[in-house]
Amino acid sequence: MTQRATVSLDQVLEAQRRIAHVAVRTPLQRSRNAHLYGCSTVAMKLENRQATGAFKFRGAANAILALDDEQRRHGVVTASSGNHGRAVAHIASGLGIPAIVCLSTLVPETKVSAIRRIGAEVIVDGADQDAAIANARRIETEQGMAYIDPSDDLHVVAGQGTIGLELLEDAPDLDVIFVQVSGGGLAAGIGVAVKAMKPEIKLIGVSMELGAAMYSSLMAGRPTQVEELRTLADALQGGIGLHNRYTFDLCRQHLDDFILLSEDEIASSMRSAFHDEGLVLEGAGACGFGALRRWKDRFPGGHAAVICSGANVGREQFESIVGQSAATV
Ligand SMILES: *Cc1c(COP(=O)(O)O)cnc(C)c1O
Repeated sequence: MTQRATVSLDQVLEAQRRIAHVAVRTPLQRSRNAHLYGCSTVAMKLENRQATGAFKFRGAANAILALDDEQRRHGVVTASSGNHGRAVAHIASGLGIPAIVCLSTLVPETKVSAIRRIGAEVIVDGADQDAAIANARRIETEQGMAYIDPSDDLHVVAGQGTIGLELLEDAPDLDVIFVQVSGGGLAAGIGVAVKAMKPEIKLIGVSMELGAAMYSSLMAGRPTQVEELRTLADALQGGIGLHNRYTFDLCRQHLDDFILLSEDEIASSMRSAFHDEGLVLEGAGACGFGALRRWKDRFPGGHAAVICSGANVGREQFESIVGQSAATV
């Protein structure tokens, strides 16, 4: 029987104190283009400016800083679609803790080499994120290292939840937040924080059409496996774990609706971010703009927020998408 567990607002507040000295308190920038989406304001949470270029730094920092001395001596092991592994490697290196990062062959080379450069041991093995997680869990057992899941972990969810606290501090009038969902740590954390403080706020999940594990799981009513496919939103690849403990229940509780974006919509989200807002975002990081466009006029006069969740895109891929004629947007 899977153990059911949850995360509280207090744990998010504790995470905020724990990571305050290492994480960036990112800006919430107002878009000048809210009219394009039929909203009165669109606030952009600039997690692309977070340390290591993605919000994952928050959860990883909270999880590693919560380890005791004995656990730190043994080191940490994780599996990742890229951004979480980079955050874990960076934080572990700063604390002098050994780190192993397991990646699948789907992870883009720019992310693999960034993690290697930080000095973590990198193991690229397995066709998908589930295989990478299996490798990490084997190392956990064999070497006694602490396993830090990229999403389904109390401290990781609480760490991502600090984004929710900052959103409401900076924009107390928000009506709706669009949040990207892969393993669901980001959505769960933000859900715990904002719904505790402002229950009427709407939280809308956003994933890609190709391999949306949380969406399929919510539809099925239980954690479900999906095939992992190549997508522009590579940071959204991966399952939620068939023995999911936190994020499935929290997403079921807190997400009010869900939007799935096509690859074309993700590409045009990256173009909107760059041409309209001046932001260089990876595919997963830009999805909020595609969601806003899809839901144009659903919140007339509303105050919306999007999470610019990550910046880590290779130059070649970025130019091949954003350099294309703006006429195709
Ligand atoms: C991991 C990630 C997400 C999704 O977060 P989950 O907690 O796995 O749902 C979204 N955007 C970026 C850039 C990410 O790295």
